Amino acid sequence: MKIIDLRSDTVTQPGDAMRKAMFNAPIGDDVFEDDPSVNALEDKAAAMFGKEAALFCSSGTQTNQIAIKVHTRPGDELICDGFSHIYNYEGGGIAFNSGVQARLIHTKDGIFTPNEIRERINVDNVHFSRTSLICAENTVNKAGGSIWTKGALEEISTCAKEVKLPLHLDGARLFNALVESDYSTKDIGNYFDTISICLSKGLGAPVGSLLLGDKSFIKEARRIRKVFGGGMRQAGFLAAAGHYALTNNIDRLKVDHLHCKKIASVVMECNYISEVLPHATNLLIFKFKDAGLTPRFIQHFAEAGIKLVSSGPTSIRFAFHLDVSEDDLIRIENALRSFV
Ligand SMILES: *Cc1c(COP(=O)(O)O)cnc(C)c1O
Repeated sequence: MKIIDLRSDTVTQPGDAMRKAMFNAPIGDDVFEDDPSVNALEDKAAAMFGKEAALFCSSGTQTNQIAIKVHTRPGDELICDGFSHIYNYEGGGIAFNSGVQARLIHTKDGIFTPNEIRERINVDNVHFSRTSLICAENTVNKAGGSIWTKGALEEISTCAKEVKLPLHLDGARLFNALVESDYSTKDIGNYFDTISICLSKGLGAPVGSLLLGDKSFIKEARRIRKVFGGGMRQAGFLAAAGHYALTNNIDRLKVDHLHCKKIASVVMECNYISEVLPHATNLLIFKFKDAGLTPRFIQHFAEAGIKLVSSGPTSIRFAFHLDVSEDDLIRIENALRSFV
């Protein structure tokens, strides 16, 4: 029986065409900046977003943490949402790597407004931490993959320019937002000073993220990547997979979103579930009426050959991705209906 893995959209296996691209990749030493496959990937991504330069890194945590380090000094403060990955899931890296503290905005979906930013900018006074960065996330993971509208992005971008603060985007799942929205990669490049995108989530590459920005930012980011131990040598094998993913795997994300909506409609009929979060993209988060059900539910799914993890004491997240097929939905539906 095929194992269906819904734990995350990071669990995908490269297909034959991606493996071939990796196998045939021309390589060099990327610390000397002469790996042709890494350079081609960085150039492609920078061009897509209308940015001057890009940097290939090992993970989305690394791209975000490098961006924070470059934009701030120890003792500074950054503004982000309480749902954000940089705050919740990067091991306290804001403090650990940069000596920076986070000023949180509390929203219901990770999407905030210029007013909420302005209220949190400290005045220039020796008592206060210096506000030096604003970070947004799109889609918002912890809120169930919620999408920023074009209007909301334009508003925070204008605000950031007015208050003269850099605006960073954690776009680990940005392409999930783009395929459902009326803004383009070039628009995103205009709205944000720096951008992180993941190649190893819905796009299906085995490893890697990209950090985008202007030349001077990326020059400094390259230095920080080395200091953080992230300078890779013949990384072209990995970059070739990322290049393949960026070229071939964006449009099909819509299929994952469709699968997510189909299963959501079944979940909403299950009487043991108390709440289903909005599910605009590929993530489906739901809560049980009774916390005791969580481990039993995971066990029930394991017996049906479906891997799950809890996303909280009473909640589960299903992540849909390119290794979940239309046929697999039947087994997921049956497991949902046969649980009591
Ligand atoms: C997954 C994710 C990241 C980066 O995670 P890595 O596992 O370090 O690649 C960053 N931000 C968000 C919103 C994510 O979901």
